[in-house]
Amino acid sequence: MAVMSRRVAGFGTTIFADINALAAKHGAVNLGQGAPDFDGPPEVLAAAVTAVNSALNQYAPGIGMAPVRQAIAHHAQRFYNQQLNPDTDVLVTSGATEGMFAAILGLTDAGDEVIVFEPVYDTYVPNMIMGGVIPRYVALRGDDWSVDGDELAQAFTARTKAIVINTPHNPTGKVFSRDELRMIAELCLKHNVVAITDEVYEHILYDDASHVRLATLPGMADRTLTISSLGKTFSVTGWKIGWAMGPAPLVHAVNQAHQFITFAVSSPLQAAAVTALNLPFGFFGELQSSYQARRDRMLGVLQKAGFKVFKPQGSYFIMIDWRGVAPSWVKDDMEFARWLIREIGVAGIPASPFYQEADRQMGRYFTRFAVCKKDETLDAATERFAKLGKT
Ligand code: PMP
Ligand code: GLN
Repeated sequence: MAVMSRRVAGFGTTIFADINALAAKHGAVNLGQGAPDFDGPPEVLAAAVTAVNSALNQYAPGIGMAPVRQAIAHHAQRFYNQQLNPDTDVLVTSGATEGMFAAILGLTDAGDEVIVFEPVYDTYVPNMIMGGVIPRYVALRGDDWSVDGDELAQAFTARTKAIVINTPHNPTGKVFSRDELRMIAELCLKHNVVAITDEVYEHILYDDASHVRLATLPGMADRTLTISSLGKTFSVTGWKIGWAMGPAPLVHAVNQAHQFITFAVSSPLQAAAVTALNLPFGFFGELQSSYQARRDRMLGVLQKAGFKVFKPQGSYFIMIDWRGVAPSWVKDDMEFARWLIREIGVAGIPASPFYQEADRQMGRYFTRFAVCKKDETLDAATERFAKLGKT
């Protein structure tokens, strides 16, 4: 009996699950899935415990608890001077992942087109397929993953309903420049298209990179839905507390879907978001410097191992090109990932699953490593990568 719906039959297992299983089987140092192996700030963890012990254990309001929505709006004002009404412009979701799914379902119809940049974070397109929406791909090209203005302009058609922008970008570490975002904004305005941004890495930036919030560019406040979450900034990826924010009509549309996906989000964990989002600026500065040190260190290690590295401007990932390091029988990123786990004892994420079927070869020589790990883990990875080094 064929039990699986046609809607999901084409989905494989997520690459993160596959690599985690293989890494565990071979005892590899896991630089695959983007999840810290250290805990979040103690005061944030304590706030969750306090909430559990303060009878905050029943359903929260569907749109999120009022103090949490206020803290989200305040954070947006504090960092981006973005003005949001916490009562109408903010929705608490089960992580950025549910925020994106609810956004796709709430803002698009079957047959609409939505533009995504490729490589593309792995949940967006399945979200679209479940909604009958047609993805249109625009490739990030070259060593700096740049956007070709003509290619982007051509992706906009009469059926384009929305564009999804992930900055800082997973898996490349690209941070969209103000000029690129201006170009996107102009096209959104010209074609009356909504922008949905995924900014979960907004606070993980390197060197002199700065995060520009598309919603704050001229004309975009009315047509941008910004999605973010606690997971990356506060090293609590397992909490799955996220939010979608923007003009009331967009947020209301997203909530129409959200109310029938999860209805409401974990009360004690969202309560702790108030403490997290209100941490002093010093916390965010320290987060950046600790990631800068990890990135710099691992760039050096990967270069020494002989990889071509793509220097990330943000996120906690480093993409590499493995040609010249792997034995000659290794033909693609999947084989490379398996070989690296088995023979070297380090796990990374092959890049081709971040491309549509027709473009898989674009990711064939790339692998992504996550640097959101304790010093001991990075030490162990360094030791293992040294087996590859030419020194
Ligand atoms: N968007 C991107 C680009 C991500 O990398 C991730 C997780 N690594 C998510 C969304 C998921 O965020 P959350 O855990 O808040 O659902
Ligand atoms: N977003 C994380 C990553 O890119 C993993 C999320 C997941 O496991 N689905 O590694």
